[in-house]
Formats: sequence, structure tokens, C-alpha cells
Amino acid sequence: MQIIRTISEIQTWSNAQKSVGKSIGFVPTMGYLHQGHLTLCREARSKVDQLVVSIFVNPLQFGPKEDLSRYPRDEAGDLAKLRSMRVDVVFIPEVSEMYPSKFFTKVSVSNLDKKLCGAFRGGHFDGVATVVAKLFNLVSPNKAYFGLKDYQQYLIIKKMVSDLSMNIEIVGIPTVREGDGLAMSSRNSYLTVNDRAVAVILYQSLSLAKSLYEEGERDFVKIKETVLNILSSDSKIEVDYVEVLDAETLSEPVSNRPTVVAIAAKVHGVRLIDNVVLSPTLQPPA
Ligand code: AMP
Repeated sequence: MQIIRTISEIQTWSNAQKSVGKSIGFVPTMGYLHQGHLTLCREARSKVDQLVVSIFVNPLQFGPKEDLSRYPRDEAGDLAKLRSMRVDVVFIPEVSEMYPSKFFTKVSVSNLDKKLCGAFRGGHFDGVATVVAKLFNLVSPNKAYFGLKDYQQYLIIKKMVSDLSMNIEIVGIPTVREGDGLAMSSRNSYLTVNDRAVAVILYQSLSLAKSLYEEGERDFVKIKETVLNILSSDSKIEVDYVEVLDAETLSEPVSNRPTVVAIAAKVHGVRLIDNVVLSPTLQPPA
């Protein structure tokens, strides 16, 4: 497994692969890897000749009051995990390599970035779209893999790729969960044992939404209120939002189209997100 830290090296590597007709798969991450990330790698591994994973804690997507400086990191542990996944290249650039002092460009996917987390984390999705666009330019992948846990991010990246005619297939991978249903996340490491036990209520509330939908409930206000009531029943939980929206456009839901129920809530100050996509076949949108 090759470790590359500079832009010129990753570009040279990528050009060399392309020149001999190899396909490239790409999994962008912020590190502190868990089974969710590794599932993306496993899916990608079986579909492409060369697999690149990036580890980059992207300052552009953190607000001034967010957890950039304490975001968990474990490069040695991550590399061991990626070796076991038979990753070909790990790209680990420094912030100064990605963003030299005069960096003026911003990629914005307007409209989709106004809802859900976008309403609470100003500039977050500009930061995500900008870094992913830059990473796509460097790695030049044929396919890139994103988790549906970060559902809005997945939609925004798909829209960016489509709007800018990037020749990259975006593959969405279902959320990987702990045994009790909590969505795996690097941020779960912030939770105390007690808070960890409380956090499972996010999944439980979404499971109930899914059951209601499967039983035929199409009153989305009622589904939203049910989820909100469950979350509000625990005083350790502070809800940022519960939204029920069209799963492709994030506009108001209509009953014959896929619908996403999305949650962001803080458990003792640790902000967690989760979602479930409801559709007659319960498949995420293509
Ligand atoms: P992050 O390191 O949090 O930026 O995540 C990197 C990629 O892994 C993103 O595409 C995430 O959506 C994805 N990911 C994170 N957690 C999970 C999970 N529990 N299941 C599936 N994908 C995930």
C-alpha cells in the first residue's frame, strides 16, 4: 500500500493508472476509520482496479465553534485497517498542501445546501463540495463511494458531479450500524458510556417511522411528530431538527416518491445525525 502526501505525486500516480487503462475507485474520509468507512472500501475494492482512500480532516467544513481541533485522529490505526482492505493508495495531504495561503475558490451546491444540516452549519457543505471537487481532480476516479448516513452530503456530491459534468459515478452505501442500531460515526468516540446508551434512541425513532410507513402511514406530519416526540422524551437529547422530505430534492414530500426522514440531535452536546429512506421498495434513489 502506497502512502502519498503531495498533490504532484497523486496526480502523477493517477495519470499513470489512466494511461494503462486501469479504473480507479475513491473513498474520501476524515480518518479515525470504523466499519462504516471499511464497508465503503470493501464495496469499492470489488469494483475497480485501483482503490484510493483519502484521509483529510478538512478545515473548510468546520464552523468556528465546531470540533476541528479535537476531531479524533489515528493515522497508524487507520493505515493498518486500510492495509487489511487491500487499498492501493492512501492520500494524506497536509492542510497547507490542499489549501495554500491564497486559496480563493469555493464550490457551492445551492438549494440542496439550505435544508437540514445546511441550516445549522453555515458554510459546511461549501467546504465539503470544495474539498471533494479538489480531491476528484487529484485522484481522477471512475467511481467514488459515499455513505448514506451523510445523506445530504451524498445528494450534494451527486448534484455537483451532475451539474459540473464530472465523469464520475457516485455510489451510495447504506448506513453501517452498531449491534443496537446506532449509526457508526467517528464522533461516537466523544460519547460517554451513559450517553452512548441514550444515543440509540435516534435509531429507534427512525425505526418507528419506517414501521409506520410500512404499515401504510402517509401523513408525513404525523411521522415527523412521532419521531420528534420520541427524541424529546429524553432530557439528555437536544434536537436540532427532524425533517421528512423528498429523498431526491429535499423539497416537501409527496406520497408516491422516496422520502427521507432525517435527524440531527445532540446527546450531551455531541451532535449526531441519522436518517432512513422510505420508499415502496425501501431503496435509496439511484
Ligand atoms: P467521514 O470520515 O465521517 O467524513 O466519512 C467518510 C465517508 O464514510 C462518508 O462518505 C460517510 O458518509 C461514510 N460513512 C461514515 N459513517 C458511515 C456509516 N456508519 N455507514 C456508512 N458510511 C459511513
